[in-house]
Amino acid sequence: MAAVVKGADVALKLKEDIACRLEKLRADGRDAKLAILSAGDDPANASYERGIIKVFTSLGIAHEKVVLEEGITQQEFDEAFTKLNEDASVTGILVFRPLPKPLSIEFAAKTINPDKDIDCMGYINQALTAMGSRECYYPCTAEAVLKFLEYENYDLAYKNVVVIGRSTVVGRPLVSMLISRNATVTCCHTKTADITDRISNADVIVTAAGSTGLLKGEMLKNAKEDCFCIDVGINMRKDGQGICGDIDFESVEPLVGRITTVPGGVGSVTSTLLAEHVVRGAEIMRR
Ligand code: NAD
Repeated sequence: MAAVVKGADVALKLKEDIACRLEKLRADGRDAKLAILSAGDDPANASYERGIIKVFTSLGIAHEKVVLEEGITQQEFDEAFTKLNEDASVTGILVFRPLPKPLSIEFAAKTINPDKDIDCMGYINQALTAMGSRECYYPCTAEAVLKFLEYENYDLAYKNVVVIGRSTVVGRPLVSMLISRNATVTCCHTKTADITDRISNADVIVTAAGSTGLLKGEMLKNAKEDCFCIDVGINMRKDGQGICGDIDFESVEPLVGRITTVPGGVGSVTSTLLAEHVVRGAEIMRR
């Protein structure tokens, strides 16, 4: 039976650190503030935003929402973005993506102040992440996976990690982040021939595919008993009753050493990391 590593425990540790750092900032006459910029009303954004606001409210961090109508022009969007980028009171900017068509994120990605780029939307932080930097902002979801490993004091040297998913927001940056922490990484995707074979020697498996039941117990018959399975996927359950991950928990859990759940796993840490980044923005921004 696997030990379940809970997102709430990982997030709590982060929140304690954030609270101390906020206190120091405020004693120094500074503060942190998040700005959320969105265009249109995608319901997926609304649910993500509720989670973010809950975390920011619980930590007492200011947040501002700028909601633009779906039909705005590219120039109007870029101007709204620039206003936040130049606002000295804003220490982190989150732009909800994808933007409604035909709006493009390109201007914002090129011009965002790297110190305010708290979800690694800009080209500078993306390049630094790909180059293995430890100083830049990582995409929060990918970094949340690292936080689970850190929480467990998991040393990645000499370990085989399989990441399933190669998107630019989760899979790819995570591969770079893991390599720079000494893991030996295999990345699987929809054109990988035999995922069962790839995971047979894995110490850690991260599923970030968005595919219900992608990882099943029958694929883990030859897997390591102490394998740590981390589920990033968020999928609607087939019965319509809430969400589930990419891991078939019932069949996988008895065969591995550690596992995370959905809900209650990576998603619970992502918004807290966003708060950590907004505080870091305030710490590093010039006064
Ligand atoms: P994406 O659709 O952009 O990328 C999915 C990747 O998985 C692709 O590279 C694809 O090749 C691979 N993939 C899909 N099905 C596969 C299969 N059957 N076998 C092998 N590879 C497969 O998605 P994304 O934005 O990277 O997000 C991945 C998942 O993580 C989604 O379920 C998403 O909802 C979830 N997510 C969670 C959080 C969080 O906070 N927990 C945040 C962002 C995304």
